Amino acid sequence: MSEIERFEISGMGLAGCCVGWHLHWRGVGFRALEDFQKGAASGVAAGLMNPVTGKNFEPSWRIGDFHLEAVDFFERVGELTGRRLWFPMPVVRLVGDKDWRKVSKKLELPEVEPWVEKLEEEIDGWRAAVTLRGGGRVDVKGFCEVSRRSLVEEVGKSTPKPSLGLSELVRCEGAFGLMKGAMGEHRCAKGEILTLRAPGADPGRILIGGGGWLVPIGDGLFRAGSTYEWEQLNGEPTRAGRIRVEEILSRLGITEFEVVAHEAGIRPIVRRSMPLIGRLADGSVGLNGLGSKGSLYAPGVARRLVEWLLDGKEIEEDLSLEHWMGA
Ligand SMILES: Cc1cc2nc3c(=O)[nH]c(=O)nc-3n(C[C@H](O)[C@H](O)[C@H](O)COP(=O)(O)OP(=O)(O)OC[C@H]3O[C@@H](n4cnc5c(N)ncnc54)[C@H](O)[C@@H]3O)c2cc1C
Repeated sequence: MSEIERFEISGMGLAGCCVGWHLHWRGVGFRALEDFQKGAASGVAAGLMNPVTGKNFEPSWRIGDFHLEAVDFFERVGELTGRRLWFPMPVVRLVGDKDWRKVSKKLELPEVEPWVEKLEEEIDGWRAAVTLRGGGRVDVKGFCEVSRRSLVEEVGKSTPKPSLGLSELVRCEGAFGLMKGAMGEHRCAKGEILTLRAPGADPGRILIGGGGWLVPIGDGLFRAGSTYEWEQLNGEPTRAGRIRVEEILSRLGITEFEVVAHEAGIRPIVRRSMPLIGRLADGSVGLNGLGSKGSLYAPGVARRLVEWLLDGKEIEEDLSLEHWMGA
């Protein structure tokens, strides 16, 4: 079998496309299979990269290992394909009275302080606004489109059988793979997101607060989200989901807007946003579990998968599916 057919990637979302680029840069060809499932996360993701996240205001897991590599990766693919994919922007975390005690204590911690650009107190009805550096937006949908176009001549639609030893099957099937049990128990979550025109909103910064976010995407448009729903795992937007996102907008002070799109997708989650790589029970290999932070983790985790496949480099314990399943 020729080098060109050594690998098959099933699923050309964010994960599969990152694996594809790393194989390509190593001079190794592959065949791509993609079913274009409704609700694929990469088709709807806002692409937000936020260094310090959540109610607990914690730096993202292993951010020091993955952040720079992700930025470099999307800039490099952007240059190669002629489509800008990485949009650095300040991330403004709005903090209410309830969370302020917790957040204020963290601001000077050595792992948080380097990400903090500015602190403003008593601003726009919030107890504080913390401006973070290092964040921005990845055009995830655009990345998948240009990658599919650049890397593969034709994307097959069929679902491949497990590898027969002739070529290695790499499953990057997101929530659809996880829901079939590819990595044991999953915690996939549906999320709904609105695309809006909001004339009064600042197009130069990402806003986080009130249980959600507002991300500028250019041309006066913004994406706002998002909901978390664990029961109805499908790609159908709902009225209840739209109302929840509109409530977030109201808490963020965005009252004047026109909704131009309402979409839903399923986040592939195994253990929060900590992805896994390794051999699956059917003999294929997989990269999955990117959760809500695919933009940050996909490039570096895909490189590790490729180095394991091509060089036999050991997978770090905390990314290893084998270790997770045995734990
Ligand atoms: C509403 C929402 C907002 C989000 N916002 C952000 C954000 O701001 N920042 C961030 O970093 N992340 C965000 N995410 C998460 C991010 O989208 C995911 O981490 C990432 O897109 C997952 O990529 P993936 O390739 O693993 O999965 P997917 O995008 O689901 O891709 C899997 C692909 O495999 C295909 N497939 C499945 N089964 C088969 C098969 N048997 N054969 C062939 N093809 C198959 C599917 O059609 C799909 O294209 C968000 C997610 C959602 C739902």
